[in-house]
Amino acid sequence: MLQIFNTLSGRKEELRTLEPGVVRMYVCGDTVYDYCHIGHARSKIAFDVVRRYLAYRGYKVTFVRNITDIDDKIIKRAAENGEPVQALTARFTAAMHEDYDRLGILRPDFEPKATEHIPTIVSMTQSLIDKNYAYVASDGDVMYSVSAFKPYGQLSGRQLSDLRAGARVAVDEAKRDPLDFVLWKQAKPGEPSWPSPWGAGRPGWHIECSAMTLDLLGTRFDIHGGGLDLKFPHHENEIAQSCAATGEQFATYWMHNGFVNVDNEKMAKSVGNFFLIRDVLGSGHVRDPEVLRFFLLSSHYRGPINYSLTQIEQADTTLARLYSALRDVVPAQRWEASEATGKFVAAMDDDFNTPDALAALQWLAGEINKAKGVDAARAAAFAAELKHLGSVLGVLQASPAAFLQKSAKGQGTESASGLSESAVEELIAARAAARKSRNFKESDRIRDQLAQAGIVLEDKPDGATLWRRG
Ligand SMILES: [Zn+2]
Repeated sequence: MLQIFNTLSGRKEELRTLEPGVVRMYVCGDTVYDYCHIGHARSKIAFDVVRRYLAYRGYKVTFVRNITDIDDKIIKRAAENGEPVQALTARFTAAMHEDYDRLGILRPDFEPKATEHIPTIVSMTQSLIDKNYAYVASDGDVMYSVSAFKPYGQLSGRQLSDLRAGARVAVDEAKRDPLDFVLWKQAKPGEPSWPSPWGAGRPGWHIECSAMTLDLLGTRFDIHGGGLDLKFPHHENEIAQSCAATGEQFATYWMHNGFVNVDNEKMAKSVGNFFLIRDVLGSGHVRDPEVLRFFLLSSHYRGPINYSLTQIEQADTTLARLYSALRDVVPAQRWEASEATGKFVAAMDDDFNTPDALAALQWLAGEINKAKGVDAARAAAFAAELKHLGSVLGVLQASPAAFLQKSAKGQGTESASGLSESAVEELIAARAAARKSRNFKESDRIRDQLAQAGIVLEDKPDGATLWRRG
């Protein structure tokens, strides 16, 4: 039984989909005006794993993740750069894809852009006005009237009065209530705009997700996900818009991933303590993007995760141990699931508990190591199982030798000490020749030289030598 923690009810609930065997899910994507940081990566990887696991459990999954390609930040940045909005958003959409591809995040089935759904945004806004959930303010913007929607606050679990007390003092007098939010904004001269019954303008941020879910998933769907920072007001507002406009329940399950912290403080662009994905991957501390992915999976998605180099190094060590187990073993074509699969499924069924699922992978690695050289068939079966379960988390699909021989410098050609892959191979060949001619002084010298460069050798009974970077 698959249980999902539903933010809406505040507890774990059994997954009951609207249509048997089908999951339709929507995850809020990025605003494309800058490079993505590892907080973005965490959210995308968390829901990538949800999607992969649902498919593993036999569901047909439709996965939608939007791109916000028009908003204040985009317009401001494009103006600063002196480039058209579209050039800016195209550039950062491409950069986002590049980063996410490197991290093994599967592309969504649908990746709608806000600017491609303007007609639905306009018609939804009109229907909210018609039903008295929205009004045209004195400045011409169309505002949502939160007090008109009685269940407002249900997702964040707070009363309107509490939310109002916490809301920033409204600067613009056009709002009737400080919590009211904009659905349609009047365009200022020179800004991108679309025609509407309220004049040329552009959508507010929240309405785009309501419109895109309606266009791609209909009035009701199963899972809506996003970062914890989106719970209020963004997701609260999405519910208010969609439920009021369609009269339907909208999403059944609301999932929120926790923050990435740095020194126990939330990592955020606004705080300035954020790390870009591409900077982390090129920092010389991450031998492969998979290490960052593995690190982010090592904590449960709902809790906070603390980012530090020590944590990254630990993830590298653990992942290298898994790859070391797979090295030198050809995974079996046919195999039967061991108790590890049972533990893996139990962990993932329990609200996608990836740390416990990874423990099942580590158990398998231990069994492979025990079986190596003793029972080849057993080792091969466990290796196949390990790779298979790894694929559900999007890890362990690379060649073990290639992964282990990569250095943290990034490209897998140069180690920290400057020894390239071919230089290592040459030294190993020279050592083998020295050993063959019984020149053990020379072979020991080469071994020490390699050890000093961080290269760990492993001599196999058949005379071959495996190596990895330590
Ligand atoms: Zn959204």
